[in-house]
Amino acid sequence: METKEFRQSAHQLVDWMADYMENTSRYEVKPSIRPGDIKKQLPSAAPVEGEAFSRIFDDFNKIILPGMTHWQHPQFFAYFPTGASGPSILAEMLSSTLGAQCMIWLTSPAAEELEERMMEWLRDMLGLPKSFTGVIQDSSSSATLVALLTAREMRSGYSINQKGFEGNHRFRVYTSAQAHSSVDKDMKIAGLGIDNLVKIEVDETFAMKPDALRKAIDHDLQNGFTPLCVVSTIGTTSSTAIDPIDSISTICKKYSCWHHIDASYAGTALLLPEMRWMSKGAEAADSFVVNPHKWMFTNFDCSAYFVKDKDALIKTFGILPEYLKTPEDHLVNNYRDWGIPLGRRFRALKLWFVIRSFGLKGLQDKIREHISYGQWLKERIAGTPNFQLLAPVPLNLVCFRFVPEGIKDEGSLNEINAKLLSSLNATGKILLTQTKLGHTYALRFVGGSEKTTLGDIQQGWALVEKMATSLKLGKKDLG
Ligand SMILES: *Cc1c(COP(=O)(O)O)cnc(C)c1O
Repeated sequence: METKEFRQSAHQLVDWMADYMENTSRYEVKPSIRPGDIKKQLPSAAPVEGEAFSRIFDDFNKIILPGMTHWQHPQFFAYFPTGASGPSILAEMLSSTLGAQCMIWLTSPAAEELEERMMEWLRDMLGLPKSFTGVIQDSSSSATLVALLTAREMRSGYSINQKGFEGNHRFRVYTSAQAHSSVDKDMKIAGLGIDNLVKIEVDETFAMKPDALRKAIDHDLQNGFTPLCVVSTIGTTSSTAIDPIDSISTICKKYSCWHHIDASYAGTALLLPEMRWMSKGAEAADSFVVNPHKWMFTNFDCSAYFVKDKDALIKTFGILPEYLKTPEDHLVNNYRDWGIPLGRRFRALKLWFVIRSFGLKGLQDKIREHISYGQWLKERIAGTPNFQLLAPVPLNLVCFRFVPEGIKDEGSLNEINAKLLSSLNATGKILLTQTKLGHTYALRFVGGSEKTTLGDIQQGWALVEKMATSLKLGKKDLG
């Protein structure tokens, strides 16, 4: 592409982007298409001759856009929000333009030093102890894997890295029955085995029961296992349950277990001093992960991993082939040794733009506002006949279900609520997702995009009520 064409097209795209950001709510949140609808519009072979950008962009509008789920839609209430904001997008543009690799200091000195500084800013903004050192990973899944591998290596005297598993390590990892599936996945990848992930029972708030944790560890010790790590959660994915971090830290100290805290989503709320009760005891943990790419208006990917013993981290991942040696190695952070991939994007830039552009206060205002939406919805549901709250609402995620008059059978309630969800999502006006809390099917409603307002939440809820009352219940449902 000639520079002239790039310049013209870029201007055109920036206008498109600004229009999109202003008018996202004009789109259906989720497209009404079937699997294969998009692929069949794409030629089966790559073009031999290059095509004009205008044609490519036309096809983006014609083929791709109608097949997108609009995560930045103000009435996207599904999963957890994924961050995006003006300053973050602008930083991504610059970072793509620089096209730099940020694996060692020498390959991008400013990127390395900005990342150091951003991790210090973020650590202090979240009220985490100074003894933590941060590094940006691509995702929480990777960050938790990094924690498990570091724990594994420290505990085995770095022998598994050297010799592989010799069959005599019987490590156990503990997490709550409500923990994210990435912990299971990481057990597979780390060679620890899913069978060695012990799921600890939760209490009525869906938080881990420390007594059950202690019992499970004692039981394992009696049976010849080595307790390795506990992964606790601040803000579970199903219902933002908050594990008792303080008690878990104490247990980890007693049994010499690594304590990793998964605060992927809810960690951002630690920007608010009044929410720091959630992280009480985190100062005694070994590692902590939060995703600014979820609730901190920063585009994917940007996962901040904080670790106490950074030497153990580097010892676990360090490599030093001749072609990567530099004279500054002893003076700087070479982030290639702080995680899994060698190549790394310049992710600190968007964090810098976001934090400076919002300011700590601007971020706090937004998060407080989002939490108040959750509290509004909680009150509203509590006061609406035939609706039931299914979990505490510490933040902005509300789990609820519809309980129509006269229906008591749990199986029927689960079916009715699944039907309610699919009817709501078929409107294209809002998007919700579901979870299971115990055996109970729950609808999840979470509003945390930059552009979401209380009005959006109220409109969304009005639709839920309307749809629920118009649901045609079969004879079977009504027993
Ligand atoms: C989203 C989420 C994850 C996974 O995050 P990725 O960055 O997508 O890997 C892990 N744990 C919790 C609690 C989450 O909410």
